[in-house]
Amino acid sequence: MNRMTILVVEDDRAVRNLITTTLKANEYHFLTAKDGETGAMEAASHNPDVVLLDLGLPDMDGVEVIKRIRSWSNMPIIVISARSEDGDKISALDAGADDYLTKPFSVAELLARLRVVQRRLSIMQRDPDSESPIFANGDLRVDYEAGCAYLGEEELHLTPIEYKLLCLLSRNVGKVLTHRYITRQVWGSSWDNDIASLRVFMASLRKKLEGRPGSPQYIQTHVGVGYRMMRVE
Ligand code: CA
Repeated sequence: MNRMTILVVEDDRAVRNLITTTLKANEYHFLTAKDGETGAMEAASHNPDVVLLDLGLPDMDGVEVIKRIRSWSNMPIIVISARSEDGDKISALDAGADDYLTKPFSVAELLARLRVVQRRLSIMQRDPDSESPIFANGDLRVDYEAGCAYLGEEELHLTPIEYKLLCLLSRNVGKVLTHRYITRQVWGSSWDNDIASLRVFMASLRKKLEGRPGSPQYIQTHVGVGYRMMRVE
């Protein structure tokens, strides 16, 4: 039984029906809205647990809806975009969306994204200030106060930038962070050169963190978009 309530903001009836049928079959509660104005209003009046938001809406840009919701709430937002809207997807993540689905998506993908959000929500609820001094995920532990990270019993020997990257990813576990967001947080700027350096630092961080860098367990790459730390059981 899933007690989460999901707000579906989507103007395309076929896509909306696919989503609501899936949600119903998996016992999620849901609300729907066919445009951005109604979506932002429903979010404010029902305070859903998750918003599934189409970016191409008839009355306003989906990114506008994210900005409106983010002005008062951190509720998880998963955006739905067409393959041709890669730039929009990145703007949506930069505006505060948590994750994205690209059309056409499968029912399995939709459910997988909801499970990621659900895990994130249950951790946020268990630990409301969520700034616990020790972050634990699988074998990884980050001690924010001591400024150290461990993999099992072994201390990870990280450079300052690798450690900064690891902290940024772990503090946002479950959330997709864009290249632009990461480079701004780490270097205070965002140039193409920084994105190239980011790839290099990320590769060296992964070499230290991942048992098998070919099939990463902790850090997921989103090609052309950014990176996400996954929750590891
Ligand atoms: Ca649409």
